Amino acid sequence: MDFDKLFEAQIETLKSEGNYRVFAELERQCGKFPKAAKHSADGVRDVTVWCSNDYLGMGQNPKVIDAMCEAVQRCGTGSGGTRNISGTNHDHLLLEAELADLHGKEAALLFTSGYVSNWAALSTLGSRLKDCVILSDAGNHASMIEGIRHSRATKVLWKHNDVADLEAKLKALPADVPKIVAFESVYSMDGDVCPMREIVEVAEKYGAMTYLDEVHAVGLYGPRGGGISEREGLADRITLIEGTLGKAYGVVGGYITGSAALCDFIRSFASGFIFTTALPPAVAAAARASIQHLKISSFERMQQRRQVAKLRARLDAAGIPHMMNESHIIPVLIKDPVKTKMLADYLMDEWGIYVQPINYPTVPKGTERLRFTPSPLHTDDDIDHLMNALTSLWKKCAISRAVA
Ligand code: PLP
Repeated sequence: MDFDKLFEAQIETLKSEGNYRVFAELERQCGKFPKAAKHSADGVRDVTVWCSNDYLGMGQNPKVIDAMCEAVQRCGTGSGGTRNISGTNHDHLLLEAELADLHGKEAALLFTSGYVSNWAALSTLGSRLKDCVILSDAGNHASMIEGIRHSRATKVLWKHNDVADLEAKLKALPADVPKIVAFESVYSMDGDVCPMREIVEVAEKYGAMTYLDEVHAVGLYGPRGGGISEREGLADRITLIEGTLGKAYGVVGGYITGSAALCDFIRSFASGFIFTTALPPAVAAAARASIQHLKISSFERMQQRRQVAKLRARLDAAGIPHMMNESHIIPVLIKDPVKTKMLADYLMDEWGIYVQPINYPTVPKGTERLRFTPSPLHTDDDIDHLMNALTSLWKKCAISRAVA
């Protein structure tokens, strides 16, 4: 059988739909973020990155870099094994204590990524809690969806951010089955924030456990970077808070926090925790330095907010519609995959601006977009440059401003 032909046929379909992905080959340059070098067949050029999830530029923070370098010198590179078999390093435990403290929980458990933490925790909860029903917000991330699917637990979808729908679905379930309400705080593609208090209240009313993904909020919201749950004073009412070390903290890795019993349960049964090499100690040390810094420094958060507000105001003034939300994520809807890529290519080729076109399956078909994430390190000149590019682009293209 010619397998390559089968692969190529599916790739051709992606291409004909405009959903084939081309990655930008970046070389991040320490101390210059959001500038980076971009490699291509034509050579190397400088670009400004406008779509990074290193939301606060912590990936180049001197304290974080020093912590990683110090730990590499002290411990070497890898962790040496799975957590169970020789891979648990002192730095992992220090980081778990830091994370538990961040969310005011008894315990935390590290994973190799946020994706794995969601997948492993939800699949373990759903499969091991007998008759469990997982009520999942319709906008939840792929990692949660896959974890729920793998658990084979009954899944009930509730309308995105719709507490009345959640309540109706909770009410319809038998009182004695274990229920898990799974949702996110900041939704990464629309940038909208969940009605957390109402969700928690309705979950409590029906005796459901709450599973909260704070991946796009940790480090960014709350006085110590504990996320929207910290900002709203709700962390202690949420059963499990999940997060990443790879976005605002600028490193890599994922985690859950909760009661000691909950973390011990996941530690003991989750295949995605048990059967994989632990994160390098240097990654744990760097993440801890990043969390510690953002627990006491609000400077980065304030400066980011300022630049987000500036870009939004400039888009408004230029008549470029963007989705309204209260977060740091600024989506500009284009609603067509081919046009979105064309615009992104133009910005890159003509202006040295890198904003990745966002297409299916990251967002539903017909909602393709450019997604801008201003950081504290984007200067006013960067914003001017972006606005000059967008204004010229909007004039050039026949895309109606009302549609975009
Ligand atoms: N949860 C949400 C809501 C996400 O958007 C992402 C990644 O983009 C993840 C989890 C996975 O986190 P990580 O990138 O650390 O694997």
